[in-house]
Amino acid sequence: MQDTIAAIATPNAVGGIGIVRISGSRAIEIADRVFKSKNNLLLSELEGYRAVYGMIMDKQLAVDEAIALVFKAPKSYTGENVVEFSCHGGLFVMQRVLRVVLENGARSALPGEFTKRAFLNGRLDLTEAESVMNIISAHGEQASMAALNALDGALSKKINKILDVFLSAAAHMSVWVDYPDEDIEELDFSSLLIDYKNARNELEKLLLEFDAGQAITQGVETAIVGRPNVGKSTLMNMLIGTKRSIVTSYAGTTRDIIEETVRIGNVVLRLADTAGIRNSDDPVESIGIEMAKEKLNRSGLVICVFDASEKLNNEDYKLLELCRNKKSIAVINKTDLPIVFDEQEIKNYVGHIVYISAVNLQGYDDLKNAIENTLGTQEFDTSAAMLATERQRDCCKRAIECVDEAIFAIESGLTMDAINVSTDGAIESLLEMTGKKVSDAVVDKVFERFCVGK
Ligand code: GDP
Repeated sequence: MQDTIAAIATPNAVGGIGIVRISGSRAIEIADRVFKSKNNLLLSELEGYRAVYGMIMDKQLAVDEAIALVFKAPKSYTGENVVEFSCHGGLFVMQRVLRVVLENGARSALPGEFTKRAFLNGRLDLTEAESVMNIISAHGEQASMAALNALDGALSKKINKILDVFLSAAAHMSVWVDYPDEDIEELDFSSLLIDYKNARNELEKLLLEFDAGQAITQGVETAIVGRPNVGKSTLMNMLIGTKRSIVTSYAGTTRDIIEETVRIGNVVLRLADTAGIRNSDDPVESIGIEMAKEKLNRSGLVICVFDASEKLNNEDYKLLELCRNKKSIAVINKTDLPIVFDEQEIKNYVGHIVYISAVNLQGYDDLKNAIENTLGTQEFDTSAAMLATERQRDCCKRAIECVDEAIFAIESGLTMDAINVSTDGAIESLLEMTGKKVSDAVVDKVFERFCVGK
């Protein structure tokens, strides 16, 4: 039997209401010890989904007035008995209520332990549990919609459907291999091949949409790069709408990386304005340049800024070289000045080219469209199944590798054993994704990311 856990479920901040949550077989008994209802009702006498008004008591001392909400197993978030005390949202008072609960037999919950119990009790599968975390951390409507759909099982349903294909094939093949003398219907390899290829395409689609999904749900690390004085800081200010980056007309003043988070269209960009990437003898500036190069390597999107009134030089080409294998947009700034820049020269290096005048706040919509196009978020359907974490992506990738092996085995007429082994591999990876067959270490890792109280 699991012990009973408790934690403050609301943020560690002052608020109108603060919730202390208790879950476990002794949750209601412990709650009864510390809660005195106004009409002398015992919580253990109530049915589930009931709320009662009363006082939290530390022996004879009243700690706070509260509403106790009772959920009875298995009809609760965790699948266990749960009591939630909604008390006043003061930091001290919530701590005090929690302490009384702990002193009466509960233990402090670990990060994500409530959701982990929900998973262990079969209330959620692992992809759904992960989406709980994404709902909490979502910073926009689309991100929260996507996470909510995942919690509703959009991905699980899709994966389980694909799993069915492999499970029924594996069952058929096992019977065939194990009981060769029985009169069992032969496998139709041509239809098996079609099913496997369809399943593979579905998995591949999930994989291809992963980056766009991540851009929507997690935001994108974005580097604004360019040689000094092309207008990087001014562009950053245009995107942020404030005078955050220092703008001067001397080359090399943006020495440190300045970071900001902005929403552009349906994505959140974590912007970094970097020192101009160029060879510098100034030691302070060199550090900035090194940081910028590193930043560029880690970025999911590079906005490479050029000055429309100047011709490309060697520094620009070095920069373009760094952008070659990245998702990148060339922003040609200062279009209010006579344009001498030739876009033909950069076409092979970057995905999109956009003309702006940052100082006049012109070109924002074009840049927004280019960003959405580059990240693939323009047409993104938040109601569709999507992979939400690196863990899920890794499982999907491994499943595809196994399906590829199985397809190869079918096409080259290898033994049924060979097809069977690869099919099993695909099944394992997909079961790991939904958490039906997953090691404790992986489960622990998933819930480590959670906050206490969730
Ligand atoms: P950074 O070194 O790349 O960050 O460049 P800054 O943003 O500091 O800009 C350098 C200079 O270019 C400043 O004097 C800006 O006012 C000027 N500047 C930036 N954007 C524009 C623009 O669109 N048109 C013109 N004419 N000047 C600009």
